[in-house]
Parts: sequence; structure tokens; C-alpha cells
Amino acid sequence: MSSLRFEALAESRKRVPATIEESGKRSELFGQQVFNEERMLQFLTKEAFEKVKSAIFQGSKIDRKIADQVAEGMKAWALSMGATHYTHWFQPLTGSTAEKHDAFFDILPDGRAMEKFDGGQLVQQEPDASSFPSGGIRNTFEARGYTAWDPTSPAFIYKTTLCIPTIFVAYTGEALDNKAPLLRALHAVDEAATGVAQYFDKNVRKVHATLGWEQEYFLVDKALAQSRLDIPMTGRTLVGNAAAKGQQLDDHYFGVIPSRALSFMSDLEKQCTKLGIPVKTRHNEVAPNQFEIASVFEEANLSIDHNLLLMDVMEVIADKHNFTVLFHEKPFAGINGSGKHNNWSLATDTGVNLLSPGSTPMKNLQFLTFFVNTIKAVDTYEELLRSSIASASNDYRLGANEAPPSIMSIFIGKQLSDVLDELEGVSKGKLSPQEKTELKLNVVGKIPEILLDNTDRNRTSPFAFTGNKFEMRGVGSKTNCAKPMTVLNTIVARQLTEFKKEVDALIDKKNLKKDEAVFNVLREYIKTSKRIRFDGDGYGEEWQDDARRRKLSNNKNTPEALKVLTSKDSVALFKNMGVMSEVELKAHQEVELESYTLHLQIEGRVLGEMVYGNIIPSAIRYQNLLLENIKGLKDVYGAIHEKVAEGQLNLLEQIGEHIMEIKKLTDKMTEARKSANKLSAINKKASAYCDNVKPYFETIRIQSDKLEKLISDDLWPITKYRELLFAK
Ligand code: ADP
Ligand code: MG
Repeated sequence: MSSLRFEALAESRKRVPATIEESGKRSELFGQQVFNEERMLQFLTKEAFEKVKSAIFQGSKIDRKIADQVAEGMKAWALSMGATHYTHWFQPLTGSTAEKHDAFFDILPDGRAMEKFDGGQLVQQEPDASSFPSGGIRNTFEARGYTAWDPTSPAFIYKTTLCIPTIFVAYTGEALDNKAPLLRALHAVDEAATGVAQYFDKNVRKVHATLGWEQEYFLVDKALAQSRLDIPMTGRTLVGNAAAKGQQLDDHYFGVIPSRALSFMSDLEKQCTKLGIPVKTRHNEVAPNQFEIASVFEEANLSIDHNLLLMDVMEVIADKHNFTVLFHEKPFAGINGSGKHNNWSLATDTGVNLLSPGSTPMKNLQFLTFFVNTIKAVDTYEELLRSSIASASNDYRLGANEAPPSIMSIFIGKQLSDVLDELEGVSKGKLSPQEKTELKLNVVGKIPEILLDNTDRNRTSPFAFTGNKFEMRGVGSKTNCAKPMTVLNTIVARQLTEFKKEVDALIDKKNLKKDEAVFNVLREYIKTSKRIRFDGDGYGEEWQDDARRRKLSNNKNTPEALKVLTSKDSVALFKNMGVMSEVELKAHQEVELESYTLHLQIEGRVLGEMVYGNIIPSAIRYQNLLLENIKGLKDVYGAIHEKVAEGQLNLLEQIGEHIMEIKKLTDKMTEARKSANKLSAINKKASAYCDNVKPYFETIRIQSDKLEKLISDDLWPITKYRELLFAK
């Protein structure tokens, strides 16, 4: 068995960086494989082009006749690009993407062959969906699901397939995916934010949420990754003694991108550029072999599609370069995990970033309005926002080194805190002319300057204001951003709706001027949302105690975190905002719990297999070696061999103890798994896995890591951390 490790090591040493052909300017490559506006103008009739544009902008429906025209244009373009198949590309609740390929090629009844693709095939498909998780929706409604075209995200060609972004819904209308609720949330925030933005500019017709993600990942040599059981099966290392050269050593390993990784990155960037994913790669100077690729922000739905496509492309390109890419949030114990910061803001169709202060007091009041409302929304629904980033893999990361804790809080920096403190003192009701002038000149008017030196950025705050956007940092590297973005945009939509009601009431009933009313409502929000603001680093007992006093939730694991999804308040929120029904919420919660359980179940099984299949046998092999040696010494030295072989005897004993211990723990874990499996209610099962099975992972690992330290290197069968992490 141990030979696999050494074969893999030998193979990995032979690798050379792949050469990537330069293929012209990036600007020329950009979007080559996307059915974007330029292509639409070229391949669509004027009428079809206008209709698609209005579907994107106003959400208007596309009728069958137009759909036929669009399909015809798409087909012509796709065939000209060498595509042979088309697929409805969707986001099942498992978090990644799915597709079912159909060939354009068709045989007509008279036997003639042709390339076929019409509006019907563009607009709606019925994937064989029985294997996608649905949380019982389809069973309950005895309905099948179908995918439906999302014209707001352009079709693209990937490999030789025309991919059409779609939502996936049951025939009864319930969402079976992550995109349908996202689109509803984006619609809700558009309506609510447009209403509020019109206080400041009557010309605003539409507001869209923007998202810029920063994707972190690890690269591991493919042969090395595959030489272990755990990485291919679970995406992380279940055992492994920390490398002597850990990330605490800041040396040349972290300064320069290894050339193989560099060649992977330039290949990746090229592919992304063709697919219209606006990325810029960077080296992360934190953990060895950890990197980051970030996007330029886009409209949130498109940005999310791009992130999902990116993850897919990364796996393919990594493979081509003999790497395995790890998206797991905590692939290595004791080394930084990977996140996916979600930079979020709201932008108007008039080109204004609503979270960016402007040049006039009015624009700054607009900034403050959206800024304070976001804080208020996060304060009210902090627990729900936490639930949106919960997963089995992210549980290993949140609260660990360099990652945000599982308690939600907001960092805004000292200068903006001072501004909010001042606004808290605004008079109730009508403001005197002096107060208004004072506010406009000295508080609101000074914001742009303040932000210029708002540099004290806290890297582990879960939700930080970073100059002209909020940055949500707890999102896991594997997570589909649609989940946190659905919750964030829904809660902000709800908050802005409430805000508008309150301001309108003050204007209509209390006769206040618009800006007075805005100041009055903001003042109350600032007062009532104070507990969520926290500028510290969020580690340790102290913040946990403080957070408890502030009545902030602190859900450390997924089963706990997911409970709030179906609380009375959450159900009301999602229903009122038109984002999810109670049935959908329950289904989504169930799917998340199932996925959590499944992940832990697999980890438990793989760990058991490694203990019995790799770890114990190699420990015994080493014991035998020691025994043989001791016997030999006894032959030579007789009675005094005990003294001569003291070290060997001691080692033998230690190994024996660890074997006994690891076996005991592994058997107990298996028992715990068996009893968890007997539970039929999914929430009970998930909790049993969390509370009774998962704790063994850590204790078993400790025993394994001790054995790894004791056993002869040439007998250890599992590729070591130093080999995985420092391979060039
Ligand atoms: P960091 O220091 O976190 O790396 P950057 O300034 O490089 O910060 O920006 C990080 C991300 O924020 C990028 O993806 C960028 O596109 C995104 N971003 C910038 N402005 C906005 C915005 N208005 N809305 C959403 N994302 C934004
Ligand atoms: Mg960031």
C-alpha cells in the first residue's frame, strides 16, 4: 500500500510546467464564447433583440414566436463556433451545477438529417431530475420539475456545448434550485431599493445588486492527491501530521508562485476570458499552495453564474496541468482555510453605486440611507444570514485561524462609527435650519473625505464595510454564492420597504420634509442596531461573552444554524418578499440537512477505511520490524537485551497503545454512525452526526498523527502534509 505514496511522489517530481500559448490581447478574447449583446445584434432580428433586452431590463415575458427567433440565432452562432450539443445549465440544491446534453443533430421523419433547436427547446426542458435533491417537494406535489431559460444571464459555449442558464422548478412552481429564489430576491431588492433611491433621484428606474467574489483554493499535485483515500472522497485531509515547515514560516515558498501553478493560472485566465468571466488572479500569501482568483464585480445573478462556471473550469484545467484543485473550506488542519468573500453593493440604472458617498450632501444622505438600512437589516436577520453560509465543510473553517467567527457582526471603522454617533443626536421631528446646515456641512458633507483614510481594515470581520461596498467574509470557498446573496438581498429588500413606509408616514402625517424624515428614521435605526457593530477581531471567549450579552446568535454548527430557516419570522419574511414559500423553505432546509449528514457519513466511512486499511496495518508492520530487531538483540545479548533494546521496547509499547486507542475510537465512531443512521427525522439524524459522530474525527486523527510521527517514514502509507503542500 505504501508504494502508492512513493509512486505518486516519484511521478510528481517529474512534472514540468505546461507551456501556454499566447493568443492575443485579452480584450479581444473577452466573451468570445458568449452570446452577448454584440453576438445578439449580429445573429438576432431587431425585434428579437429588443425583446431579449426588455426581458433583461424589465423582466418582461418572451413569447413563443420570439423564442423561436432567438433559438434560431443562438443555433446559428453556436454551430458557427463548432458546438454540437446544447444543454440547460442549472443549479440544483446540491450547490454545484448540472446539465443534460442534447445534440442539435436530428433526423426528420423523411430520413433527412438536420441541426434542430427551436424556441420550445430554448425556453423549457425536462431534465431527468429524479436524482436531484428536492427536499420532498416533488413527492408532496407529485409533480416533476422542469428547467426554464433565464434570459438575464447570457448563453455561452463550453467545450462543444451551448449552455443555456436556467432555473429549475417543480411544475407546481416551487424552486428546486438556488437560482429561482435568487432571482426573486434580486427582484425584491430592485423594487424596494428603487423606491428609496427615487427619494434622491426621480430618474432611477432600476436597482441591481452587484457582486464581486474572491475565490480561494488550494492546488495539490494530482498524483499526490489521488494517492490518499480522503482527498478524492471528501475533498480534505482527515489525518496528517502538520508539516515541520508550516505556514508560520514566512519564506520563499510563499513569495513566488511556483511555475506549474503560474502556468495553470494563465491557462485558467485565458479560458475565463473567452467565457466572459472577468477575473484577475492573485497569489495569496497566506498558506502554501493556496491561491485566489477574484472577479471584477457584476450584476449578482451573472456574477454567481460566472463563479459556478469558474469552479467547473478550474477543475478541468487543473486536471490538464496535473493538479487537483481543492475548494473545501478546510482541506488541511492547522493551516488557513479557504473562503469566498462576497463583495456586495447596490447600483442604479443611472450608474450610481448606492453605497458610495458622493459629491453633494444629498448624495451622501443617499449613501447613509443605504448604509444604515443594510446595517439594520443584518442586525434584524443576523441569524438568517449566518444560516446562509452553513455547510459541513464550512463548519471546519468558521472560527478557526484567519477566518471569521460564526457570530455575525459588522465592521464599519472608527470614522463612520463617529458619523453614526453624531447622527444619533439628531433632534426628533422637525430640524432647525441651523441643525440642518450643521448636519449637511459637518457630518454628511465630510463623509467622502473620511472614507479616504478609512484604512483600519479588519480582515476577519464577517461583514465589513470597505469603502463603497460591504464584504461578506464568512462565505465558504465551496458555497454557491446564490445562498448568501438570496438572504442578503431579501433582508435588505424587507428593510428598505419598512424604511420607505416609515419615511412616507413622517412626511404625510407629521408634515416633515423628506430629508428631515430620513434623518429621523435613520436615527432610530442607528440606535436600535448598535449591537451588531463590532470592530474587534472576533476571537476568543471575550467576544463570545460579549456577543451573548448583545443577544447575537452564535450557531457553531450547521444543524444549529439551519434551524432559523423555518422560524415564524423567516417564513413571514420570505413570503412577504415573494422569495420563498414555507414549503420551499422547509425543502431547502431538509436538503441542506441531508447534504450535511451525507458529508459526515462519507467522512466517517473513509476515516474508518483509512484506519483499518492503511494506518493500523502499517503500524503493525513497523511493530514487526521492531520485534524482529528485539528478538535478534535478545539472541545476542541474552538477559541484558532489555537494556540494550530499551528504546525499541518503548516504541513498541507506544505504538501498541496508539493502535489500541485508534481502534477503540474507530469502533465507537462506527457504532455512533450506526445509531445515527437509524434515526428517520433528518434534523435528528444531522444533529446525531454532529454531536455523536463528528467529535471522533478529531480524536482519531490525533492518534493517527501520533503514529505518523512514530513510524518509519518508508512504511507510512499516507502521503504527508509536507509532500502535499510543498510540491512545486
Ligand atoms: P480586497 O482588498 O478585499 O481584495 P478589492 O478592492 O480588491 O478588495 O476588491 C475586492 C472585490 O470587490 C473585487 O471583486 C471587486 O470587483 C469588488 N467590488 C468593488 N466594488 C464593488 C461594488 N460596487 N459592488 C460589488 N463588488 C465590488
Ligand atoms: Mg476581500
